[in-house]
Amino acid sequence: MAVLVIAEDDEDIARVLVRVFKRAGMTVLRAPDGRAALDLIVEERPDMVLTDLGMPRMDGWQLIEAVRAHPDVRDTPIAILSGHLQPGDPRAGSAEVCAILLKPCPNDRLLATVENLLAAGPHQHDAAAPRCPGDLPVTA
Ligand SMILES: [Zn+2]
Repeated sequence: MAVLVIAEDDEDIARVLVRVFKRAGMTVLRAPDGRAALDLIVEERPDMVLTDLGMPRMDGWQLIEAVRAHPDVRDTPIAILSGHLQPGDPRAGSAEVCAILLKPCPNDRLLATVENLLAAGPHQHDAAAPRCPGDLPVTA
């Protein structure tokens, strides 16, 4: 069974996300901030990470950097789900993520993106080639 870590500080949004992915047959682990998410990711080695950007303690950008710098989990597919990303934010272009989704994101689109990334499996990202090698569309 696919294991998904969701980093989301908003309780209501987290509850909806957990329900959507559980219904799709995934094991869902939820962290309320980036620091807790990093601990979960290192401990549980999930198949994929879905992260918010604005979170206490460690934000989504820092979480992505920390995962990519960690030798045990650096190839984990990561998707951003954010309601606060400005079009043209330079961090979105250089972030080593597979997909960027904006809230509110329709559940079917969310699910399709996550399923694509689970099918792609672990793969390398680096600063020189931030685009996903699976060539998944990065939309901001
Ligand atoms: Zn990728």
